[in-house]
Amino acid sequence: MNFSDLGLSQKVLEAVTASGYTQPTPIQEQAIPEVLARRDVLGIAQTGTGKTAAFTLPMLTLLEQGRARARMPRTLILEPTRELAAQVEESFNKYGAQQKLNVALLIGGVSFGDQDMKITRGVDVLIATPGRLLDHFERGKLLLTGIEILVIDEADRMLDMGFIPDIERICRMVPFTRQTLFFSATMPPEIQRLTETFLHNPVRLEV
Ligand code: AMP
Repeated sequence: MNFSDLGLSQKVLEAVTASGYTQPTPIQEQAIPEVLARRDVLGIAQTGTGKTAAFTLPMLTLLEQGRARARMPRTLILEPTRELAAQVEESFNKYGAQQKLNVALLIGGVSFGDQDMKITRGVDVLIATPGRLLDHFERGKLLLTGIEILVIDEADRMLDMGFIPDIERICRMVPFTRQTLFFSATMPPEIQRLTETFLHNPVRLEV
């Protein structure tokens, strides 16, 4: 299977080539067509399997189709730690180099100023840790009514860190009609329950 068989846009394929990837990994091969078909995905995959590109590449392809009128955020990616969030931002910027997307990294430990400014200017993609996202929301700065795709990454680590109530709140703040992409390395009962509540008829992929 080649990257060019998966339905990705030309721009995204060029970014893949520029990254030096010759073949999709198993999670990429399985997840990319499902994301492009706008299905919910439950991916049971560890870090190192290429799962970041498995959601980033098709999201970039979907973001090329249409644009929110008021430049409201269209996608929200939740990560358990600042480091993981920063890595995903890097991937988005690398794979999306040819697209003029505004990406905001909303993480704790830094002042609100720059993050507020980005939000005010208009953002397409939010990459956030749950606490800081909720802080912004409560400050009344963030509109989440335009979210088309929600990614919950490393869900079992979210559980270990006590973030499940935050995740549940955020899932209720974004439109019901969104597409949800959910990744976890393991599936403890609390995570299973979360997927049953917030995913709509997901395709389950295990690598
Ligand atoms: P991840 O599991 O998303 O943390 O990715 C692990 C590493 O694999 C990252 O350094 C990626 O740059 C790299 N990677 C992702 N997809 C591919 C691919 N198809 N071929 C080669 N390397 C890849």
